[in-house]
Amino acid sequence: MKPHVLRIGHRPERDKRISTHVALTARAFGAGGLTLHRPDSRVVATVTDVVQRFGGDFGIATTTRPRAVARDWRGKVVHLTMFGTPLAEAAPLLRHERELLVIVGAERVPRWTFELADWNVAVGSQPHSEVAALAILLAELDPRWAQPKLDGELQVVPSAQRRRLATIPTEQECLVVHSGAGSPAPLLSHCRAVAGMAAAVTAVLGGNVALATAGALLHDIGRTRGAGVEHCALGAAMAAEAGFHPGVAHIIRAHVGGGIPQREARALGLPPGDYLPRTLEARVVAACDNLFAGSRRRPLADCTAWLQSQGLEMAARRVTRLHRWVSHRLGRDLAEF
Ligand code: SAM
Repeated sequence: MKPHVLRIGHRPERDKRISTHVALTARAFGAGGLTLHRPDSRVVATVTDVVQRFGGDFGIATTTRPRAVARDWRGKVVHLTMFGTPLAEAAPLLRHERELLVIVGAERVPRWTFELADWNVAVGSQPHSEVAALAILLAELDPRWAQPKLDGELQVVPSAQRRRLATIPTEQECLVVHSGAGSPAPLLSHCRAVAGMAAAVTAVLGGNVALATAGALLHDIGRTRGAGVEHCALGAAMAAEAGFHPGVAHIIRAHVGGGIPQREARALGLPPGDYLPRTLEARVVAACDNLFAGSRRRPLADCTAWLQSQGLEMAARRVTRLHRWVSHRLGRDLAEF
C-alpha cells in the first residue's frame, strides 16, 4: 500500500506553485495520492493533467477538514517537522507500515498535527522545505520509486545527453513498421489477432489500451530479423531505435514463454538482463499470445505441451502462472475471454 500525503495550510493566494510541487513530488516518489487543505482547483487541475499524460494511478482530493482526515486515517500518521525525531531513527520502523499518512505543512502548523501524529519526523533538524522533506522521506521508505512507470501516454526516456519524451505509436504507425520490416502476411495477422484480444482484456482491467495494442501489434516484429527466441530482444531493439515509448519495447522484450529470468536468458545467449513482464500490459500481451497459433485461438495446454516437448519445463510453468495471474484479475479464465 502506497503512502498518502496530507498537505495542510495551503494558502491559495501564495502557495499554488509549491503545493503543486508537493503533489508532483509525492507522485514521482511513490505516494498513491494527496489530499489538499485548503481546496484549490488550479493545483488539482495541474496535477490531474500530469497524471493523465505521464500515467500511474495517483489521486488528488481536497478537504476543508484536515484534522478529520488525520483522525480517521486507518493506518499510522507521520508528521514531517524539523522538531521531530530524526528520520534515520524512524525510517526502519516506518518501512514496515502498510498504510501511512504523511502530513506536511505550509504555514505554521496547528498543534493537533503534533498530537495526532504517531510519529513527528525531522529530515535534518533545520528549517527547509516540505518538498525536500517529503522527497527524502519517500525515497528513504521505498527506493523503488526510481523505477520508471511505463503506462503513461508520455514517457521520459532517460538520457545523459538530451531531453526526450517518447509516445506510444498508433496502430497506423505500427503497420508502417511492419511494412518497412517486410513482415509476411501470416506474421501480421497473428499480431493483429493478439492485439485485438490484448486490447479488450486490457480495457476490462483498466490498463493502457493504446500501449497494449501497440506492444501486441509489434510483439513479434523481431521475427523479421531472427526466427528463434532472440526475436524478443531484436524486436525490442527495433522499437527502441524507432524512438517509441519504452513500455512498447518492454512488452516485446517480455512476451516469450511467460517471461525469461536473467539466468535462463544468459543460457539462451540473449543480451544481458531479464525478460520478465512487469507491467499489466506486458503480462496481458504475453498471456494472450500464448492462446494463439497464428491468428487462431488455441487452448493453453497446446502452448504448455509444446514447451514441455522442447524440454522447457520451467517456461511451461511460467506460462501457466501468467495465465492464472491475468485470469485472477479478470475474475474468469482468460481462455474463455
Ligand atoms: N514557517 C513554518 C512554521 O513556522 O512552521 C514552516 C514552514 S515549512 C517551509 C513547511 C513545512 O516543511 C513544514 O510544515 C514541514 O512539514 C516541512 N519541513 C520543513 N523543514 C523540515 C524538516 N527539517 N524536517 C521535516 N519537515 C520539514
